[in-house]
Parts: sequence; C-alpha cells; structure tokens
Amino acid sequence: MVLQLKNVYKEYRLDNKEKFTALQDMNMSFEKGELVSIVGESGSGKSTLMNLIGGLDSDYIGQIIIGEQDLKSFKQSELDDYRKKKIGFVFQSFNLIPHLNVMDNVTIGLTLSNVKESKKQEKAKILLDKLGLLNHIKKKPTQLSGGQKQRVAIARALINDPDIILADEPTGALDSTTTQQILDILKDIADSGKLVIMVTHSEKVAKISSRIIEISDGRLVRDEKNKDYISNYQNNDLIAKDKSVDFKNFESEISTESLHTLSEKDDSNNKLNAKQDLPQKKTKRKEGHLSLISALKLSLHNMWASKVKNILMSIGVSISLISLILMLSFGAGLTGYISDQALNYSSPNVVSISKKGATSIIAPQSFSQEEIENISIDINDYLEKNNSDFRVVSKEEDEYENNLSYGFNMLTGFGSGGSALAKIIYQPEQSENDEEVKPKECPIFYSYTTPPYYSEKHLLTENSKICGDGQIMLSSASAKAMGIEKIEDVVGKKVTLSINLPELKTPIETEVEISGIVDVSLFSGMLVMYVDYDYLNSRVKANNDSKGLSPTTLYITTNNKKTTSLIKDYISTRNDLSDSVEEKLVRMFDEMLDTFSIALTIIAGISLAVALIMILVVLYISVSERTKEIGVLKSIGARKKDIKLIFSTESFLVGLFSGLMGIIFTLIIGGILILTFNALIGFAPIRMMWYYFVEALAISIVISVLAGLYPSAKAGRLDPIESLRHE
Ligand code: ADP
Ligand code: MG
Repeated sequence: MVLQLKNVYKEYRLDNKEKFTALQDMNMSFEKGELVSIVGESGSGKSTLMNLIGGLDSDYIGQIIIGEQDLKSFKQSELDDYRKKKIGFVFQSFNLIPHLNVMDNVTIGLTLSNVKESKKQEKAKILLDKLGLLNHIKKKPTQLSGGQKQRVAIARALINDPDIILADEPTGALDSTTTQQILDILKDIADSGKLVIMVTHSEKVAKISSRIIEISDGRLVRDEKNKDYISNYQNNDLIAKDKSVDFKNFESEISTESLHTLSEKDDSNNKLNAKQDLPQKKTKRKEGHLSLISALKLSLHNMWASKVKNILMSIGVSISLISLILMLSFGAGLTGYISDQALNYSSPNVVSISKKGATSIIAPQSFSQEEIENISIDINDYLEKNNSDFRVVSKEEDEYENNLSYGFNMLTGFGSGGSALAKIIYQPEQSENDEEVKPKECPIFYSYTTPPYYSEKHLLTENSKICGDGQIMLSSASAKAMGIEKIEDVVGKKVTLSINLPELKTPIETEVEISGIVDVSLFSGMLVMYVDYDYLNSRVKANNDSKGLSPTTLYITTNNKKTTSLIKDYISTRNDLSDSVEEKLVRMFDEMLDTFSIALTIIAGISLAVALIMILVVLYISVSERTKEIGVLKSIGARKKDIKLIFSTESFLVGLFSGLMGIIFTLIIGGILILTFNALIGFAPIRMMWYYFVEALAISIVISVLAGLYPSAKAGRLDPIESLRHE
C-alpha cells in the first residue's frame, strides 16, 4: 500500500470565524500501478484532497499514511523532503517557470537538492527523450504548444523519481488529441509502478483509468475499479520492453551505463526494484539543498527575463552612487588642492607670523624692532612653560645660530598716479633692420621676499635658481609680460628693478639678474616678483641712509613639528597676530568644506534612502508577479529558506549590478569632468580614491540586501496553495 486515508476531515476557516467543511470522512487506500481518476462537480473538494495528499496543506483531521508513516508526524523539513522526493505535481495550467528553459524547468527539483549539473542533464535527457522533447531543451515555455508544456511539466514531476504523481486536471487545457497523448503518458507512468492520481472533469478521461473516485460536497460517493482496464504493472516482466516506457527505473539506466558492466545490469535493476521506496539512496553525492550558486543562477535568469526593469532600477540606484562618489571626490580634490598649495608655500618646520588685520593680505603691517623682541620673549616664555627646550634667537643676538628671519611682502601694483610701486624695465634685443626698440616696463603687482624654506620645488623651469644678491625671481605671468616667447629664456636676463616704496626718499633703481621662474600656483596668473630680504634691505639702507626695512612677516625656523605647533598654538592665543596667510586660507576653506560635506552627506543619505525604497518596491512587485512560481517551487519541495535565498540573492545581484554600473558611470563622468577642468583651468579639483568605489559598491549591496529583506521574507512565507491559485 502506497497511500491510505483514514477518516480525513478538512475544514476551511472563513473570515467571519465560521467554518466550511470541504472534505469529510475520507477513507481510501491506493496501490502502486494504479491510475486513479477523481471526478466531481466544481467545488466538491477534489483539489483540496490533492493538496492534502501532496503535503501542501497540513491543517486537517484524520490520518494520511504514506507507506508506513503518518504525514501528520512529519516535521516541516520532512514535509519539504516528502514533496521533493515522493510527490510529483502536474497542474492544469502547466505552471512552468517562464524565465527558465525546458531543461532548467525539468531539473528544478534536482537544483533544489543541489545535484551536480552533469547528473541533472543526464537524468533530464532520458526523461525528455521518452517524452519526445529532446529537440526542445533550449526552448522557453512560451515557445511550446500546450501538449509540449504539459509533457515538460510531467518530466519535471518525474525527475526525482517520486512514488506518487498528483495531476489536477492535467488535460483541462488541452485538445482531444493532446489529451490522449498525455493520458497515454500517465498510463505508462502508472505502469512503471507509480501511483497516479488525477483530477478530471471528463468522464471520457475517467473511463481510461483503473479506478474512478467520485466526490460530491466533500463526501466520497463512488469508488469503483474499472474492469476493462489493463494494467501492465503486474505483468511487467511479461510484456515487451518497448511497448511500455519504463519511467520508474530510468535512473538505473544511468548507473548501468556509467557504473556497472553489462553482466551486472540485471542484478542492479533487481536491487533497485527491491528498494523502490528509497530511490535516492544509491546516489553517492550527499543530498543537499539549493546551493548559493544555483540560487544566483536562478536569480540571474529571472533578472535577465525582466532586464529592462532591472536596468532602469540599477540606473536609478547608480545615480545616487555617482553623486556620492563625485561629491566625495570633489571634496577631497578641493581640500587636497588647497593644502597642496599651502604645503608649497609653507614648511612644517617654519612658522610664519604676521599682524592681524583686514588689510593683512593687501598691505601687511610691519613689525618694529621692539615688537619683534617682545614677541620673541613671549614665545620663549610660552615654550619654557610647555617644557620645550627650543628658544627663538634673532640675528641681533647671535649672527650664526639665529632662527628668526624676516620677510617683506607688499602689494606694489598700485602707486600714486596709477603707476606701479615696483616694476622691471627690460631692454629687448635690437632687431636686424636697426630700428630702435624701446625698453619695456613691466609692473609688478605683488612683491615678496623669499621665505627661508623656499627650495627647488618652488621653481618652475629647469634652469631656475633661488635668487640671491642682485637677483630676482618672477612668476610665470610676470615672465610672460616681458614679451619673451619661452619663459625658460627669461632666466638669466638682466633687467632694471625699480622700487618706489613710500618710506623711501627716492626710488631704488638697480640692475638685477632674473635667477628663476617661481611657482605661485594659486596666484599663477598674477604679476609677482621675489627678491632676497637681505639684498632688498641693503639696497634700501644704501638708498635711504636709514635703519632699513621693517619686516611684515617673521619666520621662525624650528627644530621639529612639535615646536612648530607649540608656537602656532601660542600665536593663536594672540589677538594681534596670525600665522601665514596661506594657512589661514586653507583653514577657512577646510571649515567651509566641513559644513558643506555635512550638507552633502545628508543629501546623499536621502538619495540612498530613496534608492532603497525604490528597490524595495520593485522587489515587492517582483514577489507578487512571481507568486505562482513560488507556489510551484514549494509544491516541488522548495523550503522557505530556498525561496528566501532566491529572492535575497536577487536583491544582492541588484545591489552588485547597480554598484558596478554606478562605478562605470562615475569613471566615465569623472573622466570627462577631469578633462574639462584641465582644459578650462589647468587642473582638476577631483580626487577619486579607489576606496570611494569600494565603499559605493558596499553601500549599494547593503541597501539592496536591506531592501530585499522584507520582500524575500514575504516570498518565503507565501502559502503554496494560495500561490498556486494566484492568477
Ligand atoms: P474542486 O477542486 O473540487 O473544484 P476545491 O477543493 O478547490 O474544489 O474546493 C472545495 C470547496 O472548498 C469549495 O467550496 C471551495 O470554495 C472551498 N475552498 C477551497 N479553498 C478554500 C479556502 N482557502 N478557504 C475557504 N474555502 C475554500
Ligand atoms: Mg479544483
């Protein structure tokens, strides 16, 4: 006895707490080789009965006994296994999975058991050959006729070699010729020693079966054997092999081919027949569940089937990723650029001190000797208090061990009457036709003295040198203003330097050599000149007969970074002093960017939240669209976990694709931006760090997986019967 029902009652609980009795007092038993037709009016309870036998519905009273075991005693995992291995479902509307081809539809039951690909194909091909579908393996369900679809569904039901085939109106959607084909197949299946139970409306169909069971209003009203039915099952040994297709032992054909010699063939077949209830026992590979790889493949198939939707969604998600990466890159690019410039200007071991004030950049105020002394004393006090051995020593105190030097920086572009306070006068070479060429006057907009830390890295051309006595350096703009084609050629030229400072009685006019072109990157468009402080001071003294220049900047060269920051700490406590203008600019910019990046983070957060909700909605809709597929998978034996895994991998893949798409788009857009910036302003304030891309990919995957949690949980929870009924 394969199957027995004892006093089975089934009640449906309705919404208003009333109960509806769909089946009552069901008592029947079934043998191998039977082809049973269940007939009855619509709504009489036929499908309800099939669902109970198939283990899709455990909410009943009474006993359903499979072999020796009561279905009621099965744990959920055993019930899943029972559906997977003992039961094969065939539906009226075929219920093939639309995005999988014939081969994958047939082998889905094996995929859920993690059977090796080659073995799956081998098994499926034998079945598909018997069902005349070998030429259609690669087709999708929509490319098949009704009869072909139903044969695929039958192959799918048979793939795990179940004991019982449950077919709910398998011919309901077919014409009479195809109906006959399907019935022949079902008869062959029964003859191979399986129990086939089919629901049918047609008395004609019922007549060809071995037994007719009629249900009316949930009660058994007829249970008759068909006397004219010839079963080939009992007579299995007597009939010729080719007359009936052996669906039971198709698996043994594989083993005989691959594992056994011809002489052992009969032996292995007999053994298998003796162990018919344990058809999977002989497989060497350990029985498993849906693997991650298979879940990924299934998800990929499904995503490919609705690629337009998925691509649009990925574009949506990647837009927020693109903006995120670009915002980070801009932030890093701008701060990086600005601090690069500051580094170029300053040195970790030099503190620049100037007086505070609104005009500190345009017209720096100068320090008197007394002020300088007081500042030195104050700094030294502060250093002593903070346990530092370093002391500021000026030239006046020690000619050789001094670490305090002076700078004089001033806007020299505008003098009285519109003429520049500083200018260079350059005499171009005579042209060949002996025409006289007038000397050229080039105004200097800003004059600096060379800071103590200036070195080769501040120079632009190979032949440049830091200026010394009788030398000046020019910015590239100043060099160009001289009208010489290449700025390299400016280096070494002799020019007249004219400086007309307010404190001078008469302007300084002196012959100097241009020692180099200096990199003033932030102000590269400006007419800037550098001159050595001591040299300028000596010229002023000689011209003026006075005490000389008053510095506008003090430079303290320290022994290490710690001392530098200590002195900077002290300067920050003074209301009247500030450190270098460049550092001040960088700090200001950093603070601005900090505020800015908080705003950007909020915007990016919002756009990511929108992306998350979008993915959630799309996946949620995908679950409802695939309700029927979920029902089919569950009827085939998919566990809650398997369904969840399929949908979670899909959300993971959505995240992965969106992330990769975002990365590719960002690289393209970023590349274009960098090229555009370089063409327009000569540099690109964009720094795309590799880890921004890793972060963006991770964020994309995390939000997608998060968004997928609810839809996949919902998919896992779906009731198989309701799902199958879903239209
Ligand atoms: P059949 O397959 O014979 O047409 P069913 O087994 O589908 O009939 O249904 C039997 C009876 O049970 C019907 O009256 C139907 O309305 C009822 N029924 C089926 N499913 C449910 C359900 N989930 N909730 C309440 N009643 C149900
Ligand atoms: Mg029905």
